[in-house]
Amino acid sequence: MRVAALIPAAGRGKRMAKDTPKAFIPMGGVPLFIHTLQKFEICPQVQEVVLLVPDKRDIRQAEEIVRQGGFQKVVGIIPGGEERQDSVYIGLKALDPQTDIVLIHDGARPFVPVELIRRIVEETQIWKSVVAAIPVRDTIKEIAADGWVRKTLDRQHLWEIQTPQGFMYPLLLDAYERARAEEFYGTDDAALIERLGLPVKVIQGDRLNIKITTPEDLVLGEAILKIEKV
Ligand code: C5P
Repeated sequence: MRVAALIPAAGRGKRMAKDTPKAFIPMGGVPLFIHTLQKFEICPQVQEVVLLVPDKRDIRQAEEIVRQGGFQKVVGIIPGGEERQDSVYIGLKALDPQTDIVLIHDGARPFVPVELIRRIVEETQIWKSVVAAIPVRDTIKEIAADGWVRKTLDRQHLWEIQTPQGFMYPLLLDAYERARAEEFYGTDDAALIERLGLPVKVIQGDRLNIKITTPEDLVLGEAILKIEKV
């Protein structure tokens, strides 16, 4: 079973309001994406890692950081695209055609437990498309554009979707090709499978597997680093 991980880290991090691309912002003294790569490096179920960076100009810096970090599994560092979905598509096309399973994991989620990666690989072998998620804790309401409540949703059935998301590689590549042909953009990878009427299995993610998006998240991230169990 050949398992590759694609790490989209090509966002410019506009909500971070810093000049440095988000992936290169230091957390615990090292660039954010290094924490993420470490998890996949450690996970025995993953053989190859491809990293998407914002720009051609970022490649050399990322390569140097990866070399210094002694990462063995990183087989490619390539520039991403305009949207996250474009970045993932570029990454998918760059993978070895013999790949059986592809994991997609946001570069901006550095606290993914290695055990969760392992479970995603295991479950993908059974279900073909698998996402990590956690049940929502807050009440979720639908709000109209003018700021009034439209309705309250039944939170029993609402989950926040995380990454990693795992897929049989040919299945996800086909879903991506079709989405591209039809100019469909989803907010996660599984949405491209769902729109074809295919099932997606949900497994329990992790509350600490947060996505670092804003400066407040970096403060949280520094705190999580202190208590994190890999
Ligand atoms: O923008 P957001 O935080 O939702 O992005 C999730 C992940 O997708 C991040 O790791 C980000 O770097 C990545 N991304 C990308 N290419 C883009 C936009 C976002 O790889 N064009």
